[in-house]
Order: sequence, then C-alpha cells, then structure tokens
Amino acid sequence: MSKTDLIIVGSGILGLATAFLAHRQGRRVRVIDRSARPVGSSIQNFGHACFTGQADEIQTLAMTSRAGWQEAAAATGIWAAETGTYVPAMTEPELRILQEFAAHRGSDQARMLEAKEVAAAIGNPDLGAIGGAHLPLDMRVNPREAAPALARWLADQGVAFNWNTTVTEVAGGAVSTNRGDFHADQIVACPGLGLTALFPAIADANQVQICTLVMSLIERPQHLPSGFAMFTGTSLARYDGFAAMPGAAALREDLTQREPELVDAIANLMVTDIPSGLLIGDSHAYDLSPEPFIDEGIANLLLDRATTLMGIEEPLVLQRWLGQYTNSTDTNLILERPDSQTTVAAVTSGVGMTLSFGIADRILNDSALDSGAAAESDLFAETGATFATGAPTADEVVMSDQ
Ligand SMILES: Cc1cc2nc3c(=O)[nH]c(=O)nc-3n(C[C@H](O)[C@H](O)[C@H](O)COP(=O)(O)OP(=O)(O)OC[C@H]3O[C@@H](n4cnc5c(N)ncnc54)[C@H](O)[C@@H]3O)c2cc1C
Repeated sequence: MSKTDLIIVGSGILGLATAFLAHRQGRRVRVIDRSARPVGSSIQNFGHACFTGQADEIQTLAMTSRAGWQEAAAATGIWAAETGTYVPAMTEPELRILQEFAAHRGSDQARMLEAKEVAAAIGNPDLGAIGGAHLPLDMRVNPREAAPALARWLADQGVAFNWNTTVTEVAGGAVSTNRGDFHADQIVACPGLGLTALFPAIADANQVQICTLVMSLIERPQHLPSGFAMFTGTSLARYDGFAAMPGAAALREDLTQREPELVDAIANLMVTDIPSGLLIGDSHAYDLSPEPFIDEGIANLLLDRATTLMGIEEPLVLQRWLGQYTNSTDTNLILERPDSQTTVAAVTSGVGMTLSFGIADRILNDSALDSGAAAESDLFAETGATFATGAPTADEVVMSDQ
C-alpha cells in the first residue's frame, strides 16, 4: 500500500472536515470507512449549524467552524444556507430568555422580532406568539448531501478513499484493517459510534453511550416559506448559550408544567427545511445498546407540536428514523492523543455538524495536543449539560447538546 501523510478513519462530517482542511494544507490524505458511503450520524441529523446557541466559551471555535463550512461550500458547491434560525416566543419565560440573550450577545447574533414578523417567517399567521427572535449567523446544510458530496469532491481532488474497509487497530502510524495494513505519519480516528469497538478504553473512561433520537421528514406544504429553521422553548432550555441566561430556571419550570410529555421525552423540538422537506425532531434516550424501535407516541408528539406551530393541519410524513449519535455524560468532545502519531476525536453530544470544521482545525493545528499522550483539550472540559439534569454550572458549560 502506498504511504500517505495522513490517514483518517471515518467518513462522517468530522473525518471529512479534517480531510478537507488537511488536503488544503497540501497533505496527502487517505480516508478509510467500513461503510460503502457516509451513512452515520452525519446524514441522520437536522443539518442545522447552531453556532449562536453554543456557550460563550466556545464562540471562537464555533465561528472557526462557520468559516470552515463557508470555505467548504464555496470550494465544493455544497449547499449551505445562511438564513439563520427563527425562534417564536410562545410564553413569557421564552420571551424573557430571548430578550436576555439578545441583550447579552447583541443584535448581530440575536435580533428580537415582533409577533407578526416571526409568524410571517414561519408561515403561520395564526401562530399566537408573543414575540420572537432571529439568529442570523446560524446555517443549514442538507445532511443527506453534505458528507457524500464532500467525499466525492475530495476523491476528485485526489484524496484516496477505502470504502467497505473496517479498521481493527490504530497505533504508531499503522492502521490495521480487514483488507490489509496502511501506514501514515499521522492517523486521525473519527469513528463516531465505532469508538466503543475501536478504542474501548477511551470509550469506557468517558462513559460513552449511544443517544437515540426520533426524527421525521414531512412534505413542506406550498403555503410555507422555504428556507427556514425553527427552534422552540425546549431548544432554549437545552442549548448552553441560552440556558446560561438568568431566566432559564423559570423556563424549565414553565415547560415542566405546560409540556410534561416533551420534557419526559427530553425533547429539543425543532424544524429545519431542506430541499426534500421539513425535518422534525427530536427526543433523546441513552443506552449502551439501544433497541431499534421508534416509539410512535413520541414521534406523533413531536410531529403534533411542530406542525401546530407551523399551522400544518394534515402533515404528510415521508420518512421516520431513529437517529443515533455518540454520547457521554462526562464530556461533549473526546479529543485524545493515545500515541504521538494517533489522534482520536469523537463528538459526544449533538453538535457535530455545527462544530465539525472548528474541531478539525484544532485536530490539525493545535500544538497543545502534541504535548502529551491522552491530552484532552482544556476547551472541552467536562459537562453534564442536558435538559434533564438542569442548568449546568458555568465551569461545566462548554458545548450545547442537541
Ligand atoms: C437525529 C440527529 C440530529 C442531530 N442534529 C444535529 C444538528 O442539527 N446539528 C449538529 O451540529 N449536530 C447534530 N447532530 C449530531 C451530529 O450528527 C454528529 O455529532 C456528527 O454527525 C458526528 O459526526 P462524526 O463524523 O463524528 O460521526 P459519523 O457521521 O457517525 O461518522 C463516523 C464514521 O466512522 C465510520 N467508522 C466507525 N468505525 C469504523 C471502523 N472501525 N472502521 C472504519 N470506519 C469506521 C462509520 O462507518 C462512519 O462513517 C444530530 C445527530 C442526530 C443523530
């Protein structure tokens, strides 16, 4: 096998963002994936790049990632819409958080809207909101297209791809697979859900589990405006940037009273518009070996609440699926260097699409990672930030969990 400068294990968005940046640095890159094409977490999600809702502490990383998406979109032609996110405020606690957040971040990041403006943006004149906000810096990509298109573009540029090739061991510049061994100066492993099998000690040390999320794609009715993303009150309670506002406790209390079923489902009720329809989700459940079944009650709950907000009376469901991502209760990012030639990276919360290019930049350019084996980046300190566990402390908050 020919030797390359860099081997990347995993063709999800994290591996491909790393391959894109490394290729731009002029490095010879090989990507190895056990699948025939990207089919992991990176195609199962909302395609929502929520830079704004991330915690203050990682805004620099989030904006690096935003610039990376823009650069990749310009170079490869990937669809990446800079239309932001709309957040209707249906209650006083939701309005309060948005007002606090807008005052904290400024109007470049959060612009308050009149009730009728947010209703028009969502396409439902009967919305009944009392106000709202627009987060203009957020982006949307098509999750079904972004990773596959990036992989195709990289292959056209000369990046080597070995599909259908399962990596069994990575150490000291060597990658063992079921189809032979590969060698490179540096290996970056981004195996997503494959972390537990490939690096069990790292997975165990970080209490890694699988998060399952109920999702659906519905047809977008013609009367709805195209090109929007929508957060709801549950999103404001979940993302660290909003949840750090003083009104977060009151919002949680209100949601518990008003929407106990959504709270029980650990919901982040949100919608993104992609060319094939409206993506609606999601709930969260955590297990080491989750069962594959979609809970119809939860699916219908999410569908009902989202379509009510959008004024859709008879939604036409095109697809349902149970998405999966790697989760840890201890940290939102695993970034370790088990030996001087190997980096292991796994996003262990629901923000990998948002932060992929920022994390890839750190993987390739952060000299702090060279300073010792198993060095976890201090930017990604421990966090227990989930809706269910309540507001994390300032020290804990580093990345929003979706
Ligand atoms: C329903 C849902 C909604 C989400 N919504 C959002 C959102 O709106 N915004 C956001 O920012 N994030 C969101 N996320 C999270 C985001 O999708 C993930 O954080 C991100 O896709 C992780 O990317 P990845 O490259 O690490 O993993 P993956 O995309 O899973 O890629 C890992 C790759 O590694 C390969 N692999 C694994 N083991 C091996 C092995 N041993 N040998 C060879 N190959 C291997 C796999 O085949 C796979 O292709 C969501 C996730 C889900 C499931």
